[in-house]
Amino acid sequence: MTFEEIKALDQKYYMNTFGERTPLCFVKGEGINLTDVNGETYKDFFAGIAVSSLGHGHPRMVRELKEQVENLLHVSNVYYIESQARLAQMLVENTCADRVFFANTGAEANEGAIKLAKKYFSNQGKEKYKIVTLKNSFHGRTLATVAATGQEKYQKPYRPLLEKFVHIEANDCAALENAVDDQTAAIMIELIQGESGVHPMNREFVDLAVRLCKERDMLLIVDEVQTGVGRTGKLFAYEQYGIEPDIFTMAKGLGGGVPIGAFGAKERVASAFVPGDHGTTFGGNPLSTRAGCVVMDELVNHGLLDHAAEAGTYFGRKLLELQSDKIAEIRGVGLMRGVEFKEEIAKDVAAAMMERHYLVGAVGTRVLRLVPPLVVTDEDIDTFIENLEEVLK
Ligand SMILES: *Cc1c(COP(=O)(O)O)cnc(C)c1O
Repeated sequence: MTFEEIKALDQKYYMNTFGERTPLCFVKGEGINLTDVNGETYKDFFAGIAVSSLGHGHPRMVRELKEQVENLLHVSNVYYIESQARLAQMLVENTCADRVFFANTGAEANEGAIKLAKKYFSNQGKEKYKIVTLKNSFHGRTLATVAATGQEKYQKPYRPLLEKFVHIEANDCAALENAVDDQTAAIMIELIQGESGVHPMNREFVDLAVRLCKERDMLLIVDEVQTGVGRTGKLFAYEQYGIEPDIFTMAKGLGGGVPIGAFGAKERVASAFVPGDHGTTFGGNPLSTRAGCVVMDELVNHGLLDHAAEAGTYFGRKLLELQSDKIAEIRGVGLMRGVEFKEEIAKDVAAAMMERHYLVGAVGTRVLRLVPPLVVTDEDIDTFIENLEEVLK
C-alpha cells in the first residue's frame, strides 16, 4: 500500500484519538534505523516512546521470538510458564523486589500497583486509601491511572473520577508533608516525569517521600514505566537516588517492543495479594515474557546496561556542549533527555529534524524528548547533535 492509501484508511476507520499523526509509515527497522513505505530511512531517537530498547530487528530478539512463535504463543496463567518464571527471577535478582506480577501495559502495571497498595492496608483492617501523586505526572489512560495522573486535560472528560487521589506540585517538600495524613496509603511518583517533558525529581524531595512513607506507615510506589529497564543508565531510576521503593512498575522498554508491563514489590507488600485478588488473561504470556527475558539478559549479562550508561553520559555531555541561544534548559539522565527551548519551537524543530531523517519526540510546544534505543552509539549521537545544532541555527 502507498502512504496515501494507508492514511486514507486510518482516517476513515480508526477512532481519531491521535489527531494528525506524523506523516510517516514505517515498514522495516534495523538497529536505530527505520525505513518507511517510500524506502526512506530515518534514525530513531524516539524508540516508539522509549520502548524499542534493543533497537529494531535485534538479531537475538528476532531469533528467540521466531522460535517462541513456532513453539507456543500463549497459554493461560492457570498453567506454569517457563519464560514468565525466568523473567520474574531475573527481575527479582536484579532489583529490590522480592516478587513481580506481569501485565500488558504501563497503565495496567500501575493499576496493579494501586490495587496492591490498597489490598496491603485492607488486609490489616486499616482505613488507608488516599494516594498522593504529582502534578504533571503521567500514569496511564485507564480510569484509575487517569485519576492518578495530575493533568487536568486527561481527566476532564471522564469525571467523576476514582476518588482519593491528591495531587501536589513536584519537588514541593512542604506540600508533600501537608498532603499526607493517617488515611494516606501511598505516595506514587515518577522519578523523572517523562510525558510532561523530562522533569527529574530532586533528591531532597525523594528522600522526604521515603522518610514519610517509613514514619507514617505508607507505601512508596515508583512508576518506572518510562525510566526503568536501563533507560537512565541504571536498571531502574530508583538506584540513581539510592532508595528502595515498596512497589515499582515498569513496561515500555521491558519487552523491547512486545507489549508487557510489570510491577515488583517487597515480600511484605507482595504477599498482600492472595489467590483470586488479581489476575490477567494475557499478562506474562510465553511471547511477551520471552521478549522480556532477551531484553533483561542483554542488559544484565551482555553489557547493554554498561553501554546504555556510557552512551547516556556521552549524550548528556554532547547536549550540554551544544551551543544555541534557543535552548533554555537540558534535563534528564542517561538516554532519557529533554531539551527545553526558550520559545515555542519544539514542533518546528522536530519537523526540521524529520526532514533530516531524525525522529524525535515533541512534548507540548517547548520541549524535545530524546529517548533513543539503548543500543545507540557515540557516532549516532555525534551525527544527531550535528544535525540538531544546524537546525537550531
Ligand atoms: C507511558 C507511561 C505510562 C502508561 O503506559 P501505557 O503502556 O501507555 O499504558 C505510565 N507511566 C509512565 C511514567 C509512562 O511513561
